[in-house]
Amino acid sequence: MAVHGWDFDVAVVGGGPGGSSAATALARRGKRVLLLERERFPRFHIGESQLPWSNEVFRTLGVDQAIAEAGFVKKWGASFRPPGSTKEQYADFSAAVETPTPQTFQVLRERFDEVLLRHSQRCGVDVREEHRLLDATFEPDSVSLRFADAGGAEQTARVGVVVDASGRTGIIAKRFGQHEYDPLLRNIAIHAQYEGVPRAEGRRAGDIRMFTRDDMGWLWFIPLSDTVMSVGAVIPKASHQREGKQTAEESLAHYLACTPLAAALLVQARQITPARIDVDYSYLATRMAGDRWVAVGDAAAFLDPIFSTGVLLAMQGGLDAAEAIESGLRTGDLSARAFTRYESIARKRYHHFRRFVIGFYDPAFRDLWFTPKKVFGIYGAIVSVLAGNWRPSVLTRAKIRLFFALVALRRVGRRFEKA
Ligand SMILES: Cc1cc2nc3c(=O)[nH]c(=O)nc-3n(C[C@H](O)[C@H](O)[C@H](O)COP(=O)(O)OP(=O)(O)OC[C@H]3O[C@@H](n4cnc5c(N)ncnc54)[C@H](O)[C@@H]3O)c2cc1C
Repeated sequence: MAVHGWDFDVAVVGGGPGGSSAATALARRGKRVLLLERERFPRFHIGESQLPWSNEVFRTLGVDQAIAEAGFVKKWGASFRPPGSTKEQYADFSAAVETPTPQTFQVLRERFDEVLLRHSQRCGVDVREEHRLLDATFEPDSVSLRFADAGGAEQTARVGVVVDASGRTGIIAKRFGQHEYDPLLRNIAIHAQYEGVPRAEGRRAGDIRMFTRDDMGWLWFIPLSDTVMSVGAVIPKASHQREGKQTAEESLAHYLACTPLAAALLVQARQITPARIDVDYSYLATRMAGDRWVAVGDAAAFLDPIFSTGVLLAMQGGLDAAEAIESGLRTGDLSARAFTRYESIARKRYHHFRRFVIGFYDPAFRDLWFTPKKVFGIYGAIVSVLAGNWRPSVLTRAKIRLFFALVALRRVGRRFEKA
């Protein structure tokens, strides 16, 4: 028993990418970590397309080799096609400036999350699957947790600090604050897996392909193996209220059928999993940390998946939270004040990507994005952000600003065209 009388220095609630990253980073720094996960892995999760900047996180966690050996599909870029057009904009990660390794992966999340969680275990984390956190009591010098196993038997543990990595549940974050929804990003997502979908040849066979719709919705095609393709539709809430059908199956069939470029790819395809529906609203937690707690990943914020940023944000957040907690344990300050910097960085990173996501739903942004002019190095700067670059250099930031200035001009141009 340590001097504090804690059973563990840290408890992490949730074994997704955010939780396992925080837990691994802390265990590798010699901390005693308990991780509670209510499911038994492998378990299904949406969020399959990864970004090159996650490679840096894998390396920091020492899990890069295990990921490379897991047999995931290699991804080198993302393509976007507007309705009724033969022109395609390709984000080729090899062109992304400041990006050390441009190749990333498309992953079956049940497998990917399990690789990360088993790595946490190997690093010394006490991982308890099928253990659900029921309650946390915050005291001045500790946190007392009450949790239940699959049979309902309850246990307790006293820890120094808690990481809320419970995903959208946000079990602690919602207790001390709320998930504040973004009025500009209210979409729903419906998805399923298919076999028999034709794909590109060679290096681009593993890329994500996206087809945009006139109502600003879009469809994704993500190759998950040599034969399986994840197919999903992200539809604005307003369109879904008008067009949505009785069941998820019918709605998905409808959105695929009325997006001709997608429908053409599915002529010979066979759906192999039931359609699932997700409310896909973006949000930010009003508080991401407090006395003896920190929220990471979807517990802290969720951003529309158009640029596949979710897992990167969760894992990088897990690393940053681990650093803040380690410092707090060292100095003996685990109060909200100790996590101010963590929260400020997490918010900045979120807004950095949100600007692009909001842009994608703006016709003026799409016009420019689909105009493949590679001037002033703007393309390399934009693709760098799409590769996950959350800390661009001053020069890259300037190019991004220039791009958004052009978008603003284009917006004015569109107004004149309409008038
Ligand atoms: C439609 C859609 C498409 C997406 N596509 C992509 C994509 O292509 N690429 C990408 O990077 N991201 C994508 N995302 C986002 C991505 O899925 C998430 O951002 C990511 O999974 C967040 O990881 P996390 O660890 O924070 O949470 P999660 O992965 O959700 O993990 C949270 C864990 O907490 C556990 N838990 C919850 N409550 C408790 C409790 N009380 N006790 C114990 N355990 C608990 C859960 O069982 C779960 O395993 C997508 C999301 C949606 C909705």
